[in-house]
Formats: sequence, structure tokens, C-alpha cells
Amino acid sequence: MRDAMDIAILGAGAMGSLFGGLLAEAGHRVTLVDIDDAHLDAIAREGLRVTTDAGSRMVGSLKGCRPEQAAAAPELLIVFTKTMHTDAALTSARALLGEHTAVLSLQNGLGNVERIARHVPRERVMAGMTTWPADKPGAGEVSSHGAGEIRLMSADGELHAHVQRTVDALNSAGLNSVADPNVWSAIWEKVAFNAALNSLCAMTQCTVGELTNLPDGEALALKIVAEVATVACANGVAFDEAHVIDNVRFALANHRAHRPSMLQDVLAGRKTEIEAINGAVVAAAHAKGIAVPTTECLLQLVRLVDARGPR
Ligand code: NAD
Repeated sequence: MRDAMDIAILGAGAMGSLFGGLLAEAGHRVTLVDIDDAHLDAIAREGLRVTTDAGSRMVGSLKGCRPEQAAAAPELLIVFTKTMHTDAALTSARALLGEHTAVLSLQNGLGNVERIARHVPRERVMAGMTTWPADKPGAGEVSSHGAGEIRLMSADGELHAHVQRTVDALNSAGLNSVADPNVWSAIWEKVAFNAALNSLCAMTQCTVGELTNLPDGEALALKIVAEVATVACANGVAFDEAHVIDNVRFALANHRAHRPSMLQDVLAGRKTEIEAINGAVVAAAHAKGIAVPTTECLLQLVRLVDARGPR
């Protein structure tokens, strides 16, 4: 393809494999970098099975390796580890960070730019938000249903050439991407949604729909949204609270059987992303002298579950 890019994906779980698979299918040269040997072996043996609304197919043109084996620096590196693994992943995959490599994070939560900027100059870091969903049913497989979008911008706010190159590459793979100067609004609004529904489901072990069994569920979720809105506004972020409330109510009514990733992590005995979501909101609130009691209480409770470990 014209304008094919060398792209590496650091953290090739559900999201990294989906993006890697679709970008490879579109003709880009993609390397998946992960520590999951079973997943890498399956891809090396048979390719990656990608299942979307467009059908199920094998993508065979992907390379894969462990972080310490990565040798060549790509033009674009997309970080898709869970937030608490970013630093270790970038440290062990140092060879991926060339002089001209641009690095994109579409991870959930806050603090992703700061974590990556410890390894790469800030002008080459891009912050973003995606609503694409993905699941990894087994080694060598990824699935995603429905549609999504991506909003991204350079962390320094400049429309560098690599921002548009990245948007074009993502769009060539059908990933519906735009460069958005208001990306921080989209990031904070998704943080509010996740701080509410992820932490409540993780603590109660309710599916999203089960939060409506009592009026308290929606009331708690909307209290958290209001708290995050206050913190975002105090940080100069244009935050559309009505839009987030609509999204929360839509999820409560329509995504009833969904188990948010934080609940899936708790049930599987894995650490959650609570620090990058509720934890980062509470830290930002304290820095401005704002009380966020409901968000903070959920943070403390999920921390206790994380500290307990697997049952
Ligand atoms: P995941 O757990 O499926 O994938 C993370 C991958 O990172 C795993 O394959 C793991 O082996 C790998 N990893 C861990 N440590 C590593 C290291 N040191 N070096 C290399 N790889 C390492 O997670 P996911 O669901 O793909 O989510 C990734 C990020 O995207 C999270 O921040 C999540 O909140 C966000 N997100 C997820 C979805 C979704 O639907 N799954 C949607 C939007 C955003």
C-alpha cells in the first residue's frame, strides 16, 4: 500500500491485537510486542484470528516478539498495556524508541502522557481516547463488535505531521479517527464514565444492568460523574456533564449484561486500573482542594480488593 507505516504495538492483549490486526490487514507492517508467550506462539504458528462485524478471518502478516527482543524502532508505537504496566513495558522495549518514533496512548485513565514522557520527548507523545471495544477470548484470537471512534492529539497540543500520519493510518484500517484539539475533554469524560461504572461494578460484582436493581446504583454513579466533572472543570477542561450522564444512563439501560474490565479483573484475581481512574481523579481533586468523597471511597474499597489478591 502507498504510505504503509512501520507500526509496533506494545501490549498486544484485546485492544492491541485488534488494532494490530486491523492495521496489518490494511497493509501496514505491524509488530505485536507482548510478554504473553502463548499468544505470540499462536500468532507465529497460525496468524491472528480477528472477529468483527465484518466476519472472522486469519491475519497472517503480523510479526510478534517479546519487549526485550524488539530490535527496530518503528515510525509509530501504540501503547496498549494496562496503565500500571506502561513503565515496565517501555523500559524493557527501549529499542522500539527511535529518534523519530511517535508514541500514542489510547489507554483508559489519566497520567498516560506523563508515564510515556519519562521515556520519550513530550512532543512525540500523543494522547487519545477510543470507544472501540475488544475482547481476547483465547491465545491468538481477538474479537470486537459494534463501532467506535478515536480522538487524539499531540501531548503538546501541536498538530505535528506525525499526528496526521497516525490519524490516516488508523482510518486506513477503518478505525474512525480524528485529530482533536479537545482530546482532553474526551479523555476526562471517559474517565468519569469509567470511574462511575467500573468501580461500582468491581465492588458490587454487579453487571452494569444489575446496578439498576435499586435506585442507589444510578444515584452513586451520577454522584461520581458530578465529582469528576468538578475536578475536570477546575483543571480547565471543558467537560460536558449532561453528555456523560446520558452515556451512563444508556449503558445502565442497554449494556445490562456487560461486566466492565475492572470487574473482570477482580473476578480473575488480576490487579485493576483503579489508580489511573479513580486514583488519578482523587489526586487531581486533592491538588485543587476539592472533596470527592464518593470517588475516593470507591478508590479505597477497590484498593482493598486489589491488595487482597485472588480468592
Ligand atoms: P489486556 O489485558 O487485554 O492487554 C494488555 C496486554 O499488555 C496483555 O497482553 C499483557 O500481556 C501485556 N503486557 C503486560 N505487561 C507487559 C509488558 N511489560 N510488556 C509488554 N506487554 C505487556 O488489556 P486491554 O483490554 O487490551 O486494555 C489495554 C488498555 O486499553 C487499558 O488501558 C484499557 O483500559 C484500555 N481500553 C480497553 C478497552 C477494551 O474494550 N478492552 C477499550 C478501550 C480502552
